[in-house]
Parts: sequence; C-alpha cells; structure tokens
Amino acid sequence: MPENPVAGFGVTFKDMFKKRLTEQYPEYKKPTAPRFHGRHQLNRHPDGLEKCVGCELCAWACPADAIYVEGADNTDEERYSPGERYGRVYQINYLRCILCGLCVEACPTRALTMTNEYELADDSRESLIYTKEELLAGLEEGMVDSPHAIYPGMTEKDYYRGLVTEAAPGTVRQTPTDTGAPQKSADTFGADEPAAAGDATFEAAPHGRMTHGTVTASGEGER
Ligand code: SF4
Ligand code: SF4
Repeated sequence: MPENPVAGFGVTFKDMFKKRLTEQYPEYKKPTAPRFHGRHQLNRHPDGLEKCVGCELCAWACPADAIYVEGADNTDEERYSPGERYGRVYQINYLRCILCGLCVEACPTRALTMTNEYELADDSRESLIYTKEELLAGLEEGMVDSPHAIYPGMTEKDYYRGLVTEAAPGTVRQTPTDTGAPQKSADTFGADEPAAAGDATFEAAPHGRMTHGTVTASGEGER
C-alpha cells in the first residue's frame, strides 16, 4: 500500500490540464506536409495531351509490384500523347502500394506525381485498384481532353521544352468521352514542372514487360 494513494493519480491530474491532442477526423482534416506522399496522379501537357508514354519504368521501379502498364501506339486518328506511344492501360493497386514514391522518381516524363490525398480506404478490393481514368488529371483552362492532334508545327520535344502552353484554336477531342478527376494543383510531390530546355532526350522504352500480367479485381496480380 503506497504511503500517499493520491500520488498515484499524479500523471492523470497533470495531463487533465494539458492541451488536448484529439483530432476531430473526419470532420476536421489536418493538412498534410507539402511533400506528403498520397494518391498518384497522371499529368497532362498544357494542351490536354497525356504525359505518360507507356514505357513501364514506373512499374519496374515499384518494389511492391503495384503498377500495371500497357503501352500502345498513337495514330493520327487517335493521339493521346505527343510522341509515338501512350499508356493505354494504367493501374495502381493500392492494396500493395506503400506510397514510397520510387515510381515518381523513375518516370522520365514527369507524367506520374503524387498528391496529398491520403483517404485510400474502402470496403472492396476491386475499388482500390485505381484505373487510368481515375488517376488521370482533370482538365485545366486551355486544355482539350485527349485524344486529339498534336499542336500544329510542334514536335514531341517542343512539348518538353515548354513551348506548348495551351491547345491550338479549333482543337477538338478525336473520340467523345467523359473521364477525368479534378486536377490537383501545386500540392503534389514531384510537382508537375516542365523539364528544362534541352532535357527532352527520352524515348519510349520498348514494351518489354509482357509477363507482367493483369491485376485482377481480387487484388492479386497474375504475375
Ligand atoms: S509509391 Fe512505391 S509502392 Fe506505390 S506504386 Fe509507386 S513505387 Fe510502387
Ligand atoms: S514511367 Fe511515367 S511515362 Fe512511363 S509508364 Fe510510368 S507514368 Fe507512364
């Protein structure tokens, strides 16, 4: 039996008068650090064409095997990115992703960045496999949704030199659709800045990961 039983409540009484640390989530969402690693985003060029070239480097860099990419060739009738190839299928499995950001580092075109969005819980495994339509940035002013023609007189390299700042007048979408989440702005990790002039030497890598397989709705990839 302690000499002074009230002393046992010392810690309790001391903490009763301290500032409360309880956060009223989800009513109040504490802002994250600016470079917090949250949900990914596939970025667009200023005219709305996609930056992803379907090279799969992000998939190869991922330590959790969470990314699945299938590239395809652009055509004059259906062009999604300024160059030869684009990402036809793009999936990120958030049941596997550890939000490490290595995929962002691997991307040669700054197509892939991370937002500050952290609410990535759901009650079905299927809904946590995000598709290209869910990851693709929405349209900002001056953009026309892909697919559409390249800016007249510009080359793929000109896009990476920052010479294309908006869609050319009269640009129209080549096939009608209705996709895209709201564009996330500057609060992204690996911000979507244009590459420096002369830094446009990338080429779409060969589509070499044919054995990568399909991420199924069950969340288990058939690798
Ligand atoms: S953040 Fe890391 S784990 Fe998640 S998809 Fe990118 S590389 Fe893979
Ligand atoms: S590394 Fe970048 S360009 Fe290549 S597939 Fe991934 S997101 Fe697309």
